[in-house]
Amino acid sequence: TWVDFVTFFNDIIDRFEMIKESHIVFKRILPKEAIFIQIDEDKLTQVIDNIISNALKYSPEGGRVTFKVKVLDGQIEVSISDQGLGIPKENLERVFERFYRVDKARTRRLGGTGLGLAIAKEMIGAHGGDIWARSVEGKGTTILFTLPYDSEQEDDWS
Ligand code: ATP
Ligand code: MG
Repeated sequence: TWVDFVTFFNDIIDRFEMIKESHIVFKRILPKEAIFIQIDEDKLTQVIDNIISNALKYSPEGGRVTFKVKVLDGQIEVSISDQGLGIPKENLERVFERFYRVDKARTRRLGGTGLGLAIAKEMIGAHGGDIWARSVEGKGTTILFTLPYDSEQEDDWS
């Protein structure tokens, strides 16, 4: 189905904003205009839910979670950044593998199976996009993904 990604994303963020702990601050940097793309809403909701849950789960000291959508050539780039404990450089790609969890002892008490990002990778791939992570240990993590977007589509009507 065709959806305005900005509204879709805002609705998901709103849902987390209602349940998050008050010391965590959300910041949104989103386009003012609608961005119509074709997505499976249930699947992308699951992807974004997991990325936000991770950002909250691995930000023990609170801090800020930043949500961004950028319009690029032929695609949009969505990013979710936290100021949590980060992921060591050598594990950045492995977090997208099934059951992979950084530092078993640290993550065991936080719960989870290590499937969330593997599922995200599969679903973003099925949408024709990419997903990757950037992180600086001790400073925070950013998960980024792209989705195909034809910014010229409005012109078809003229
Ligand atoms: P599940 O999502 O299945 O409940 P999970 O959150 O452990 O479990 P993933 O979402 O796949 O699994 O994440 C894999 C691992 O990547 C996590 O266990 C954690 O070690 C690391 N990770 C993911 N997101 C972050 C983040 N924002 N900050 C720090 N580490 C992270
Ligand atoms: Mg997870």
